[in-house]
Amino acid sequence: MLIDTHCHIAGDEFVDDLAQVVSRAQDAGVDQAICILDATARVELDRVATVRAAWPSVRFVAGVHPHHAGAVALDELGRVVSSALEASSAIAVGEIGLDYHYDFAPRTVQREVFGRQVAMAVQRGLPVVIHTREADADTLEVLDAAGTGRARGVFHCFTGDQALADAAVARGFHVSFSGIVTFPRAEALRAVAATIPPDRWLVETDSPYLSPAPGRGGRNEPARVVRVLETMASVRGLPVAEAAAQALANAAAVFGDVGPNR
Ligand SMILES: [Zn+2]
Ligand SMILES: [Zn+2]
Repeated sequence: MLIDTHCHIAGDEFVDDLAQVVSRAQDAGVDQAICILDATARVELDRVATVRAAWPSVRFVAGVHPHHAGAVALDELGRVVSSALEASSAIAVGEIGLDYHYDFAPRTVQREVFGRQVAMAVQRGLPVVIHTREADADTLEVLDAAGTGRARGVFHCFTGDQALADAAVARGFHVSFSGIVTFPRAEALRAVAATIPPDRWLVETDSPYLSPAPGRGGRNEPARVVRVLETMASVRGLPVAEAAAQALANAAAVFGDVGPNR
């Protein structure tokens, strides 16, 4: 039993063979996944029913990614995000955040769009799934502006340093590791991963992005979260089965348990 806490299987990359992708995941013991939806992409929202039919235990998260922060007029943002959340019965708002590496949208716009979505999540009592790259201080500032302890959730695909990991944990957030933690030269990230409290780490693939080593490059898929888990188990000195149980329990703490009818 394992969960991929972050994948984009409603994307174009999975249209042709989603059923096979799901059966490979299930064969690998990955019986749950959280599918991230781009709230600005009608085509992804329209695939919710298809994804749910292919993989009934999948749950959804929707939001406006920092890359697309400039694509939505600010006075439309609330409506766009709300309708995506409702259309997918979303269990969190995401992925949202700041990406100062690519800077696809102006930083002031990214901050505004991120902050408004954090406020929406807090208001609805939902966690947030945060994407942050080269924007540590501003990300924490936006979260703190929501009020101490009010925003909760996950720093996804964590690639930050020890200071950012400590800041996330201190604010009650979970820290999710992707295939990047398996890369040969990721020693510094593995050292950070070893310091996360036992009840605060998660695993994800970010499929179709970020294939873990070996097999780096090409389309990633949820079955490969097993590799991430194996690396985390070794980093943390745990048997794989124990690490899997911990990762699943930690995901349930953030996103809730999968109900019996899912
Ligand atoms: Zn991301
Ligand atoms: Zn993602």
